[in-house]
Amino acid sequence: MGMDACPHCAEQSIRFTAKIGADPASPACCPVCQGHSYVANKVSTSISVGIILLACTWSVIAALANSALPLYAIIPSAAWFFYRTWQTARLLPIETETVERHRRARKTVTLLAFLLSFFHVKKSARSGLFYNRQNKDRLIARRPAIR
Ligand SMILES: [Zn+2]
Repeated sequence: MGMDACPHCAEQSIRFTAKIGADPASPACCPVCQGHSYVANKVSTSISVGIILLACTWSVIAALANSALPLYAIIPSAAWFFYRTWQTARLLPIETETVERHRRARKTVTLLAFLLSFFHVKKSARSGLFYNRQNKDRLIARRPAIR
């Protein structure tokens, strides 16, 4: 697997594994100049869409051919597509201050999501308790009184 050129110093220094998934909040870091770089967001989106389309195409072919054989082509072709798209994606330079800002924004979003999910669980737990209590009251009411 080849190296990618750093958009800051033009050195062939960015590893392929560092390039995969490099976004503004977690960019690839150049070992030569310490410059940060990332791949545009639309790359990972087009990869997901492309893999879904590939799987659909092979499924249609399998249905038309009335054979399961084309289904075995899904994984190698998806892997090839994943590799090719990341390899040809362009690395864009990003300043360290911008990375910090994206990191903070992501942290806020994660915290908000966490708080929201906590609130939701608490709410559903309470409504569950309410339901149980109501049910118990009904059961008690149905039981004949003991004298
Ligand atoms: Zn560099």
